[in-house]
Amino acid sequence: MSAQNQAENIIKNDDLSAYWMPFTPNKAFKDNPRLIDRAEGLYYYTTDGRKILDGFAGLWCSNLGHGHPKITEAIQDQAAKLDYVTGFNFAHPQAFELAHIIQEQFPGQLNHVFFTNSGSEAVDTALKVALAYHRTNGEASRTRLIGRVGGYHGVGFGGISVGGMVNNRKMFGSLLSGVDHMPFPYDASKDAFSKGEATSDPLVYLKPFEEMIALHDESTIAAVIVEPMIGSNGVFLPPKGYLQALRAITKKHGILLIFDEVITAFGRLGQANGASYFGVEPDMCTFAKGVNNGAVPMGGVVVSSDIYSCFMEKSAPGIELFHGYTYSSHPLATAAGLAAQAVYKEEAVYDQVSARSPFFEEAIHSLKGEPYVEDIRNMGFAAGITIERRGDAVGARAFDVFMKCYELGVMVRSNGDNLALSPILTSDETVLETLVETVRKALRTVA
Ligand code: PMP
Repeated sequence: MSAQNQAENIIKNDDLSAYWMPFTPNKAFKDNPRLIDRAEGLYYYTTDGRKILDGFAGLWCSNLGHGHPKITEAIQDQAAKLDYVTGFNFAHPQAFELAHIIQEQFPGQLNHVFFTNSGSEAVDTALKVALAYHRTNGEASRTRLIGRVGGYHGVGFGGISVGGMVNNRKMFGSLLSGVDHMPFPYDASKDAFSKGEATSDPLVYLKPFEEMIALHDESTIAAVIVEPMIGSNGVFLPPKGYLQALRAITKKHGILLIFDEVITAFGRLGQANGASYFGVEPDMCTFAKGVNNGAVPMGGVVVSSDIYSCFMEKSAPGIELFHGYTYSSHPLATAAGLAAQAVYKEEAVYDQVSARSPFFEEAIHSLKGEPYVEDIRNMGFAAGITIERRGDAVGARAFDVFMKCYELGVMVRSNGDNLALSPILTSDETVLETLVETVRKALRTVA
């Protein structure tokens, strides 16, 4: 039996339990499977022949659309030439080239790239680098890590420990010790329907951070990690001045600042990354997803020269950092990365986003007043809509809207009571309007 026939047989017989799906209500999905057969450009095509507009760029990753010919060709050529070589004690030249292209896009001293295979690994890498840095730098007492309520930093133990989404944490025991969380930097009673950055006083959210530093003493704190734009939890922007003030406080107390840029790097905000967008230079930035258009798993951390040179100058002779992955700087992921980066540049994709963001902003905010819309937030090509909860059923109505959009031929995403849009970065005004009008129709139909 061919692989295709076998797959069809399994699906026909509803024998879907062999595959335990991630972040999915498995039982419900298997009663009503949504199966994607192929994708091209802005569209997915389902196994039953439907065409679905991708309003989520895969999962914030397929920034240049699906099956981009230059990326596909680069992966094919690389597979034929060099499918794999370990990054331990060996390298392929393109790994240096990609690292160079990436670091050039981050501001100031963010000049050195460590490759991973996902955002979760990038986060855990950044946290480990922070701890190892202080130890190497003669400040081994700096071991505490600080995240934020509502933050998403992937699903590794480090990431869920500094992360602040309760469902992602509560099943998994006591997590890393010595972790604190700053408050969620958004107050819907003051900030609802703000366009771009929120409007409330940033110091309200940073005072508890300063109290944390006073309580523990700065000499015990290694690093703080934040998403410059809170993404997975529903697209929330901190108030104006928050990231700048956070930078000033961390600097004053010798605490490393990590931006988790897994979503915001490579064009989502209309600039190369959030650090550039907000004009704030952290000590490390994570990235993943858009680095190579999500075509082959890849992530990484961009590290400041201060951190890198500390390891190079002060470590004992030999391996400076006992950390790395079998697939760090994988040749296929690297080839996809070089191709994607070339397209970003040749087609001035970040500028396209920047130019069309005001249109997207107006379009998305035109949903204010539609049924169940409690709040709308946006920046660049990212938008979050809070959907009024049905009774106590967290997320049930937002999920209904998401499903209705899919029925109407558009893929978006729901998470809790939030619906999120993350258009492919080359979507034009017509596509953006189709996305928003489909959400409007879905809201009205669900009502
Ligand atoms: N950090 C952030 C900010 C993310 O948005 C994500 C994924 N959405 C991750 C980390 C985890 O990335 P991955 O799923 O590739 O492990």
